Amino acid sequence: MDFLVLFLLYLALVLIGVTLICIYSRTQFLKGLVRGGAQIFSCIIPECLQRAVQRLLHYLFHTRNHTFIILHLVLQGMVYTEYTWEVLGYCQELEFSLYYLLLPYLLLFVNLFFFTLSCVTNPGTITKANELLFLQVYEFDDLMFPKNVRCPTCDLRKPARSKHCRVCNRCVHRFDHHCIWVNNCIGAWNTRYFLIYLLTLTASVATLASVSAAFLAQVVFFSDFYLKTYIDNHGHSQVVDTVFLVQYLFLLFPRIIFFLGFVLVLSFLLGGYLCFALYLAATNQTTNEWYRAGRAPRQHCRHEAQPLSAEPQVFQNIHSHGVWSNLREVFLPATRYEKKKK
Ligand SMILES: [Zn+2]
Ligand SMILES: [Zn+2]
Repeated sequence: MDFLVLFLLYLALVLIGVTLICIYSRTQFLKGLVRGGAQIFSCIIPECLQRAVQRLLHYLFHTRNHTFIILHLVLQGMVYTEYTWEVLGYCQELEFSLYYLLLPYLLLFVNLFFFTLSCVTNPGTITKANELLFLQVYEFDDLMFPKNVRCPTCDLRKPARSKHCRVCNRCVHRFDHHCIWVNNCIGAWNTRYFLIYLLTLTASVATLASVSAAFLAQVVFFSDFYLKTYIDNHGHSQVVDTVFLVQYLFLLFPRIIFFLGFVLVLSFLLGGYLCFALYLAATNQTTNEWYRAGRAPRQHCRHEAQPLSAEPQVFQNIHSHGVWSNLREVFLPATRYEKKKK
């Protein structure tokens, strides 16, 4: 099979896989699939190995640790080393603009700055001292966030839109999710840093893809290769087409073609996630709320005052006050010193 067909097949499979996970993660389907996989796994793997895998998974995903931060930095380092080692030198020979070639490094610098802020900023931990302040920030909707509920672990009153993070073992104000890549919760006080981190990460990967693609396009343009002909397997003369061109470039620059494929896939995945995160910010929802709103109404927290026979209430987002107001709330969150007047 041609390299191009294989590569497109691989790209399509990855994108379909990610789309299916996004769709089915809101249903019981994925949980059933995971349970089925775990049952098969338990039948064929020795018990001691199972325990070791469980301990490893528990450590990686249910405790605070720096594994994914290190993995993130190593991956970023590898991608930039490949860019510096392979693409940059060739582009300088072809006299690309220096500003264009240095743009990925500028984005990397900004990205690492906001990555660090996302890692170290307090996401909005609820304590005895600030509990009362947080209780006044958001209205209770008596469905997803009922009044007078205490966190059974922290024994603090739960403000609307807060959630207890089991990984960090703390209640977080305007809890979005726990991110393993930054080893921190994403909450009221660091969602803005997380969004800029995501934006600059996507932009840096897209810029790397754009420089690599521009380099390959220049090579084709300068060599006039697309005007030439070749002899096919049957001995016929053929005009160079796109498939042949990509395979030819793959033979000439295999590492750059793989690099381009990798950063392209990454650009699509990160771009998709960035759009989702921006949609949530513009509509004033957290990932936690979006996930819970997608579940059946009977699965929401039922308020004690709501009789069992009553019609199930459908969740409505009462915190959205227009796109600009919602974005302002994310980028200028209520701090520990001020109360939001609503
Ligand atoms: Zn708690
Ligand atoms: Zn957490």
